Amino acid sequence: MPGQPNVTVVSHPLVQHKLSMMRAITTDTFTFRSLAREIGMLMAYEVFRDLELTAENVTTPLAEMQAPVVAGKKLVLAPILRAGLGLMEGMLDLMPSARVAHIGLYRDHKTLEAIEYYFKTPDHLEERMVALVDPMLATGNTAIAATQRFKDAGAGEIRFICLLAAPEGIAKFTAAIDSHLNDLGYIVPGLGDAGDRMFGTK
Ligand code: URA
Repeated sequence: MPGQPNVTVVSHPLVQHKLSMMRAITTDTFTFRSLAREIGMLMAYEVFRDLELTAENVTTPLAEMQAPVVAGKKLVLAPILRAGLGLMEGMLDLMPSARVAHIGLYRDHKTLEAIEYYFKTPDHLEERMVALVDPMLATGNTAIAATQRFKDAGAGEIRFICLLAAPEGIAKFTAAIDSHLNDLGYIVPGLGDAGDRMFGTK
C-alpha cells in the first residue's frame, strides 16, 4: 500500500468476494463463520508466503531427493478473543501443527480502551513468530495492547492479521480499508460486531 510499508492489503478476488458476503446483513451466523474460516485459510496463504524453507531428505517411489519443507521459527497463532477464533480456525486448517495462544481483551465502551481478561501462550515466545488474529482493526487500541502484551511476554516477531481496518487503526495486514470509525468505535461500513455475528449473540 503506498505510504504504508508495513501494511499488506490482500486484494485477491476470492478474499474480496467472501468479505463482501460477510458484510451483508442477510448473511446468517453459520455462513458468516464459514466465510471467516475460508478467508482465514486464504489469508494465511498470503501472510506466510515468505516463510523460510529448508531441504529434507525424502524418498519417493522412484528416488531419493532433497525436498523443500518449512524451516525457521515455529508459529504461534494468537486469536484475540473472541472474534479472532473464526479466522484462526481457517489458518489452523492450513497449518495444523501451529501452536495457539489466546488473549482475551474487551473494549471499554466508554473509553474504547482494551482491558485484558485472559492470557495464555506456549513457552519460548522469543523463538517463535506470533500471528495476532483479530477480524477488525478499529481504533487500534486492542491491536496495540495485544502486541505490547506479547512483547512483554518475550515475543520478537509479531504479525497482525485482520479482515478489514479503519484508516485510524491501520497497523499491518488488511483485506480492505473501510471509510471511517463511528462514535462507538465501529468500522463503517464494516460488518457490524464480528464476535456477535460469528457466534450468533447480540
Ligand atoms: N469490532 C467489531 O466487531 N466491529 C467493529 O466495527 C469494530 C470493532
